[in-house]
Amino acid sequence: MHILLLGSGGREHALAWKIAASPLVTKFWCAPGNAGIAREAECVALDVADHAAVIAFCKRNAVELVVVGPETPLAAGIVDDLTAAGIKAFGPSGAAAQLESSKGFTKALCTEFGIPTGAYKRFTNAKDARDYVISQGAPIVVKADGLAAGKGVVVAKTVREAEDAIAMMFEGAFGEAGAEVVIEEFLPGREISFFALCDGETAIPLASAQDHKRVFDHDVGPNTGGMGAYSPTPLVTPAIHDAIMARIILPTVAGMKQRGTPFRGILYAGIMLTTQGPKLFEFNVRFGDPECQVLMLRMMSDIVPAFIAACDGELKHFDLRWYPESALTVVMAAKGYPGDYQKGTRIQGLEEAAKVDTVEIFHAGTVAKDGAILANGGRVLNVCALGATVTEAQGRAYQAVDRINWPEGFCRRDIGWQAVEAEKARG
Ligand code: AMP
Repeated sequence: MHILLLGSGGREHALAWKIAASPLVTKFWCAPGNAGIAREAECVALDVADHAAVIAFCKRNAVELVVVGPETPLAAGIVDDLTAAGIKAFGPSGAAAQLESSKGFTKALCTEFGIPTGAYKRFTNAKDARDYVISQGAPIVVKADGLAAGKGVVVAKTVREAEDAIAMMFEGAFGEAGAEVVIEEFLPGREISFFALCDGETAIPLASAQDHKRVFDHDVGPNTGGMGAYSPTPLVTPAIHDAIMARIILPTVAGMKQRGTPFRGILYAGIMLTTQGPKLFEFNVRFGDPECQVLMLRMMSDIVPAFIAACDGELKHFDLRWYPESALTVVMAAKGYPGDYQKGTRIQGLEEAAKVDTVEIFHAGTVAKDGAILANGGRVLNVCALGATVTEAQGRAYQAVDRINWPEGFCRRDIGWQAVEAEKARG
C-alpha cells in the first residue's frame, strides 16, 4: 500500500514509526516531515495548505491512504478535497473538524445532546462579554472561538484578568479566531485526556494517557503544547472510563451523525473530573502531541487497518490491542520555550541515548545539516520508553535524556509524577 502522512511534529514521527512497521506498507512518504521522520518515510517538500498540490502528488504516486496529523489542514477541509478526488483520507471532514475549530460549535452540540460541560455563553462584542463576566464573577474561563495554536484559552482568576482577555481577543490578538469569544464556567477538578477512534458511527476507546501542559516541574509556569506524557493513567478508573464513553464520546458521535456531519478520525476529549462526574471542556480532532507518542509505543495492533476501517465506516467489529507495559515520554525543548528560543543549536548523543533498553526517540523540531542534527523549533525531541510500571519507564526515559548532549535544551524532570506516586502508594 502507498501511504502519505501529513505533518512534522513528534506526533507525526510516532505515527510514521508505527505506520512504517505495518507489513501492508510498500511505499511511504511524509510531507513535510523532519530529520527523525526521514528514517521512517521519504520526506517530501509539499505545502500541506495547497490541497491541489497534495492531490496531484497522490495521483502521481498512486497514494491509497493519506493520514492527516495536525488540526489546521483538517479544519481547512483537506479530507473533503482528497475524498472528492477519490483518495482515501484518515481524519474528519472540515464540517466535523469544527469540534476543534469552533468552541461555540462544540458548546452548542453539548447543549443539544445533553453532554456534560461547563455553563457558557457566546459573544461577538466586548461589552456584552464584559457585562457577563461581571455578573458571573471569577474564576472564569475566556476562550477564542477558533484555532489559536493552543493559546486561545485564558483561565482568569479575577474579573480584571477576564476583562483583559476579552479586550485582547476582540482587539484581534488571534485574528479571525477571536471574532467570537466563549465565556465558560471554571471547572475545578483533575484534568485528563481521552481518545477514541471513530468511523462516523462507532467509537473505539484508545488506551488512557495523561500529558503535562505546564513548562516547569510541579506543574507550574506557562502552558505549553505538552512537556511529556504517560500511559496508562491511574486517574481513569474503569468507572470513569465507562462514564466518559456513555455520557461524552458516544453522544457526540451520535449527535454528529444526526446532524449530517459524521465524525471520522481521532476524537480527543479534554475532560475535567469534577465532583459531579466527568465534564468536557474541549474537543480536539486529532491525536494529542505528546500523548500520541506513548499510545503508539503501547499499540500492539497494526494501525493501518484501523485507519482504513475508520475511513470505511467498518469499526464495528474491529478490535484494538495494547501492550500491557506502561509508556512515558519526556519532551526536550529549546531553552526559552514556550517564549522566544534559539534555533540551529547542535544536538549530540542521540545514538547513545537510543541504546537504553526500550527507548525510542521521536523528533519534533529538528533538521539534519551536514551530518549533524540541529534544533529547529520549540519542542525538539520526545524521549520515550516502556516499562513494567510507569516508574520503570520513567527511569529509562531519563537515563536516555542524560545521554543527550544539548546544552541549549531543557526538559521537566518529573514527568509521570502522578502515576509514580500512585505506584509507590500501592507498594
Ligand atoms: P486548551 O487550550 O483548550 O487546551 O485549554 C487550556 C487549558 O485551560 C486546559 O488544559 C485546562 O487546563 C484549562 N481549561 C479550559 N477550560 C476550562 C474550564 N472550563 N475550567 C477549568 N479549566 C479549563
